[in-house]
Amino acid sequence: MKSAPILFLSLLVAAPSASPQKHEIKVIPNQPPLAANAFNALPLTAIQPRGWLLRQLQIQSAGLSGHLDEFWKDVGPDSGWLGGAGESWERGPYFMDGLVPLAYLTGDGRLIAKVRKWMDWTLDHQGPDGAIGPPKNQDWWPNMVMLKALTQFQEATGDPRIIPVMTRYFEYHQRNAAARPLKEWARFRWQDEVLSILWLYNRTGNPRLLDLAHTLHDQGFDWEGQFSNFQITGKVSKPGTRLDTHGVNNGQALKTAAVWSLITGDSKDHLALYRQFEELYRYHGLPNGIFSADEHLAGLNPTQGTELCTVVETMFSIEQVLRILGDAAFGDRLEKIAFNPLPGTLSADMWSHQYDQQPNQIECSLSPRDWTNNGPDSNIFGLEPNFGCCTANFHQGWPKFVGNLWMTTPSKGIALTAYGPREVRAPVADGTIVHIVEQTEYPFRETVSLTVNPARPSQFDLQLRIPDWASNVTVEVNSQPQPDIHPGTFLKIQRRWQKGDRVQIHLPMAPRVSSWFHNSIAVERGPLVYALKIGEDWKKLKDDTAPPLKSAEWSVLPTTPWNYALVIDPDHPAQSIQSKEHPIGDYPFSPEGAPVELTLSARQLDDWKMEKDQAGTLPQSPVQGSSPIQSIQLIPYGCAKLRITAFPWSAK
Ligand SMILES: [Zn+2]
Repeated sequence: MKSAPILFLSLLVAAPSASPQKHEIKVIPNQPPLAANAFNALPLTAIQPRGWLLRQLQIQSAGLSGHLDEFWKDVGPDSGWLGGAGESWERGPYFMDGLVPLAYLTGDGRLIAKVRKWMDWTLDHQGPDGAIGPPKNQDWWPNMVMLKALTQFQEATGDPRIIPVMTRYFEYHQRNAAARPLKEWARFRWQDEVLSILWLYNRTGNPRLLDLAHTLHDQGFDWEGQFSNFQITGKVSKPGTRLDTHGVNNGQALKTAAVWSLITGDSKDHLALYRQFEELYRYHGLPNGIFSADEHLAGLNPTQGTELCTVVETMFSIEQVLRILGDAAFGDRLEKIAFNPLPGTLSADMWSHQYDQQPNQIECSLSPRDWTNNGPDSNIFGLEPNFGCCTANFHQGWPKFVGNLWMTTPSKGIALTAYGPREVRAPVADGTIVHIVEQTEYPFRETVSLTVNPARPSQFDLQLRIPDWASNVTVEVNSQPQPDIHPGTFLKIQRRWQKGDRVQIHLPMAPRVSSWFHNSIAVERGPLVYALKIGEDWKKLKDDTAPPLKSAEWSVLPTTPWNYALVIDPDHPAQSIQSKEHPIGDYPFSPEGAPVELTLSARQLDDWKMEKDQAGTLPQSPVQGSSPIQSIQLIPYGCAKLRITAFPWSAK
């Protein structure tokens, strides 16, 4: 019998569980006295990935995410979160925080069965006092993660156990808060629990929940104070036990002021939020869109690393900020991280990942580097290089991104907050369910086509994010050009929509350059950052599993030169960059599957050499060079596991 393509099979599986008839699509706005969100989230079941995004989630399901519990004991059957005697801290909840949305967005019955086992244990084993999780865990922090998984599971399934369990849990926390105040990780991550508290408050209106939110705020670290006079202006060399400079904490903290503003209604919290982003990126921002944190904040040098947990937690924070503030700039920030450092630190088949990735990463190998305090295995690809937190936590990255790309507007219209192939079903002001098909190969292509299908003709606003990097953008509705398109804002189209209305969006992606460490430049095009394509020799260090499971440890060694300086016209640096499109490969984020390639002029710099198995000190630009000029190829950062991203340059 001829076997059906994997994509087709998965679509068949996906359709029933994600069907809107099975579970009502409810949008739940903030209840007074909370401030209103700029946008409201849609439940997971409202969105169905398509095209390359579906393929990406299927790759993830077929890789570590779909199999981790089958061989990694920390989320295996002996987990404390399944009633066993094993790991009873954050790893089980982390795994669920990503597996819940992955399972319900793909509709994969195998993953849904796994999710149910974990959810059932937590929901059926609440203590008589209201505690959740393994009895031996006395730390508030892992519970905060499980609460996030529970809220997603409730939205996906409508499970009636969740609201009572969470209600009893928060009463339990309030009763014990004075005797067992937040400490260590929980003290720096309190805002994540507040997010779940507000989720429940909007469903029950129980005012005691807001009392608990205030208690956590009082006990938690003052992130707004930290950034009002930010002192961490360079690499943290001796972090000791401090947690305010920890990368993952800083990624999680990026949502704090936005979440807290819902309770205070105070615009000073919004100002604090913008200041936090500005300060963090001013002193630690990297050309791939994330900030350096090779355990602790590490400055601007592109050979410093960023931990994978920092990448996915920063994405989750920005998704919340985008929803609460509705500022299009956060959509730009979110896409930049989702399309670059997220895939750039995972193998194309998502069977291995790094702990730390570098923008300038010319070798992944067992070697001590200038991390703030990570081990020598931090940038190899494997199961748990350096430490297993990322192994348990990375699963949330892609699924939550997919689930947050459409939202609803205050006037009960629909907002497209970030782009990618999907279908969405959402209710609008008059109660009509609107089905929108988004066809696109964005971010690899410039066009997005929407087909809007309201169940009956309906008046509502459709808001489209116009990225700040775009110019000469056109939007047509049924071939009629729309006026007032401003990059960095949402374009609001208010009309009476009919079945089959077509919206054509053209987002021209002219190549551009940006300035970084030592006056280096990075090349960007649309939301993608481009990096030198370096020949990769993947050497297996050892297998972690036997076939058909494919977990293994890998070093990646360069087989082609990397020490190039771009040769540019400083007045028109992007003018001579040629772009060429290729079909999207089966593995979109692999060197051979790269959907776009850029060609530039460059010359090798003989003095720029490898030091400590990494690119040596980045020369200050402009540089002098005498080697012959040659053409080099750049591919999307996410495709290039070895790469140069921040280039020195010399003038033409
Ligand atoms: Zn981690």
